[in-house]
Amino acid sequence: MIRTVEQYLESLDDGRVVYCLGERVKDVRTHPTLRTIIRFAAMDYALPNDPKYRKLFVTKNEEGEDVNFLFTVPRTPEDLLRRRECFVTGVRSGGGILLHCMGIDALAAATIAANKMDKALDTNYVERVEAYRKHLQKNDLGLTGAMTDVKGDRSLRPSKQVQHKDFYVRVVDRQKDGIIVRGAKMHISATPCANEAIVLPCRAHGEDDKDYALAFAIPLNAKGVKLLAVEPVTRTNGEEAVWDYPHAWRLQPTECMIVFDDVLVPWERVFMCGEWQFSRDITYGFASFHRLFGASKMVGELETLTGIARLIAEYNGLEKYEHIRNKLAWLAMLTATVTSLGRMACIDCTEDPDSGIMVPNLMLTNSAKFTFADNYHEACKTVQDICGGIATTVPTFRDWNNPEIHDYIEKYLAARAGVPTENRVKASRLIKDMTQNYYQIDHIHGEGSRAAQQIFLYMSADWDRYIAAAKRAAHIDGWQDDPTYGPLLDPEKVIEPKMPPIDTSYKL
Ligand SMILES: Cc1cc2nc3c(=O)[nH]c(=O)nc-3n(C[C@H](O)[C@H](O)[C@H](O)COP(=O)(O)OP(=O)(O)OC[C@H]3O[C@@H](n4cnc5c(N)ncnc54)[C@H](O)[C@@H]3O)c2cc1C
Repeated sequence: MIRTVEQYLESLDDGRVVYCLGERVKDVRTHPTLRTIIRFAAMDYALPNDPKYRKLFVTKNEEGEDVNFLFTVPRTPEDLLRRRECFVTGVRSGGGILLHCMGIDALAAATIAANKMDKALDTNYVERVEAYRKHLQKNDLGLTGAMTDVKGDRSLRPSKQVQHKDFYVRVVDRQKDGIIVRGAKMHISATPCANEAIVLPCRAHGEDDKDYALAFAIPLNAKGVKLLAVEPVTRTNGEEAVWDYPHAWRLQPTECMIVFDDVLVPWERVFMCGEWQFSRDITYGFASFHRLFGASKMVGELETLTGIARLIAEYNGLEKYEHIRNKLAWLAMLTATVTSLGRMACIDCTEDPDSGIMVPNLMLTNSAKFTFADNYHEACKTVQDICGGIATTVPTFRDWNNPEIHDYIEKYLAARAGVPTENRVKASRLIKDMTQNYYQIDHIHGEGSRAAQQIFLYMSADWDRYIAAAKRAAHIDGWQDDPTYGPLLDPEKVIEPKMPPIDTSYKL
């Protein structure tokens, strides 16, 4: 089934236990900051219901019913490309996909490990995972994936932790109806807006850690599950939030710590329990898929960052200068590189021999993820550099709307003729919001921009000395009068005459 936005929103009124900014949340849909996350996630239901996008997001299951394509198993490179296209379209639309992204990758990992375990140990995990997949398809549930444990002392394995044994989620009891699990997962995205979570181990295990080799699915309103939401970027709302935080307004941090306070998981929802030899397969399987998501998510993000850099350069009358063009070209190259690596990872994929799942190319997804992660701060720095100090001192919605000061802002913050000041201010607010934060920008632009320092650096460099060093090394005359390189001892003159003659019997 494909749920409507209304059906999805209604499903979140399920008695879940959520805390935000130290307060118990009565209803995530009406909470001043969490509702932003819900609205964003609801795009996962708006897109498949829109005739323009239905073909991309909706497919048929074996019974011929309409289901979300993301809940199906990727079996061909085309399936992976379509999965990627769903991610890219969701993020470009300004919402959606982040709700499902963790969960469907966790589902893929559970499928891979279930097939391996069933083959090696004669377990019945494939049956359970596939039954759960059907449950997701039939109910069109919002699904997140919880892998990262709180971990305690990073140098110790789960069973060797000192302060307590619950730093990694573990099974504490096996009962007739199911298992009892305890522990906490941290930084879990899309939690307040999801209906259920797939929980996976986050590391490989030894036999001593077998109680931590655990994978299962759980509704987020289950008894004993507690969701501790991360601090939002903005606490404002409405028109003010849109103006001041154009990016965060639609994409607040969605992470939660999920506490499992002795939670019962029915056996049919347990996908691994004690098979420690297979924890590695599940974590690797997850990482292989989730890096593809990362590379796809960044397409829209990098396009926006590159676009806003170009736009502000135009607004400020700068786009023709060489150093600005070089910086814009670098941003465009980064965007194109990440985009292409993600696409290629789908085309150049490999089939997992046990499950038949098509797995994105590991080298390429990891290259994509590393490329954007390693360069993201540099990209933010570059955009801040192009924008100028206004990237952090830009006026707010309240300033703009105060009639006593509005005209000063409008007059003095204008730049290129023909560009409304409001546009320049809005573009600067997006840069401030996307690249965060005051201190980084202050340190880049306070005391002058980087290009200003480069002018001085070029002017102040001791080129005579550097050139003398090069000429001396290359045996080009002209270094002899340099105060540093001129007086230096010359090994050819000082040592060579004292050396015994060369033995000419060698064939060199
Ligand atoms: C915004 C955000 C969203 C996220 N969303 C999700 C999600 O939806 N689901 C999910 O499961 N996870 C999620 N994560 C978690 C993410 O995968 C982890 O943050 C990441 O794996 C790092 O783990 P950590 O934060 O515990 O840091 P740590 O593991 O403490 O790492 C810190 C540093 O210590 C090093 N280190 C740690 N242990 C060792 C060791 N034994 N030996 C050598 N070096 C070590 C690491 O390499 C790193 O340099 C999210 C994280 C963020 C920030």
